[in-house]
Amino acid sequence: MTKLEIHQFEALSDNYGYLVHDPDTGATAAIDTPEVAAIEKALAEKGWKLTHIFNTHHHFDHAGGNAELKAKYNCEIIGPKGEKDLIPGIDRAVGQDDIVDLGNRQARIIEVPGHTRGHIAYSFAGDHVVFVGDTLFVLGCGRLFEGTPQQMWTSLNKLMELPDDTTVYCAHEYTQANARFALSVEPHNATLIARAKEIDEKRARGEWTVPTTIGLEKATNPFLRPASIDLRATVGMVDAADVDVFAETRHRKDNF
Ligand code: ZN
Ligand code: FE
Repeated sequence: MTKLEIHQFEALSDNYGYLVHDPDTGATAAIDTPEVAAIEKALAEKGWKLTHIFNTHHHFDHAGGNAELKAKYNCEIIGPKGEKDLIPGIDRAVGQDDIVDLGNRQARIIEVPGHTRGHIAYSFAGDHVVFVGDTLFVLGCGRLFEGTPQQMWTSLNKLMELPDDTTVYCAHEYTQANARFALSVEPHNATLIARAKEIDEKRARGEWTVPTTIGLEKATNPFLRPASIDLRATVGMVDAADVDVFAETRHRKDNF
């Protein structure tokens, strides 16, 4: 089988947009619709025709371009069943373990509530790729606008069950700020220290820090590391449950 093609591009001020293309059939999905002009420019550059929109959640920088793109391309819109009333133009609402076809490819839906109450991720297991929207970021995780710490912790654990070599495409370039916070709570993590330095160098050259991998995030992302002794010592919760350490870490990031 040919390789799934993924085209990443900048949109709005700090979003990333993605086109996912099955070369065998020509099927092409936009992962979220942050900005119509950026998506149309990307389609033109690749010479692809938009057939699907895969929404991760209802926020404007993720579903704001749905209506205009559907009117132009008559594409099928897939979105989270937990937010179906909030997704413009939705044709099919999906939940945990539903399978979504893109030409001959399949994505499995993973429900990852927390940032919003119905947030979903799209896992292309055959290609070791997952699109996580605003749930997991490079060295960060989404703010808890609609969900509880317990929900988000459960969601992050589902993503951690994916193979370490899974490539993770998230929706924002928040990495440099995330790295400063990560170092503040896990100051002795040598892998994190080295990674933060690399990130600063990349950003100084104007390069993207996205995508990442599940393995790299497990080693360096404080929101996946409540078991870390270093992190527990920093937040003063040596004997607490993982979910409580996660909640405190998220709380501290909100005020960082
Ligand atoms: Zn969002
Ligand atoms: Fe967003």
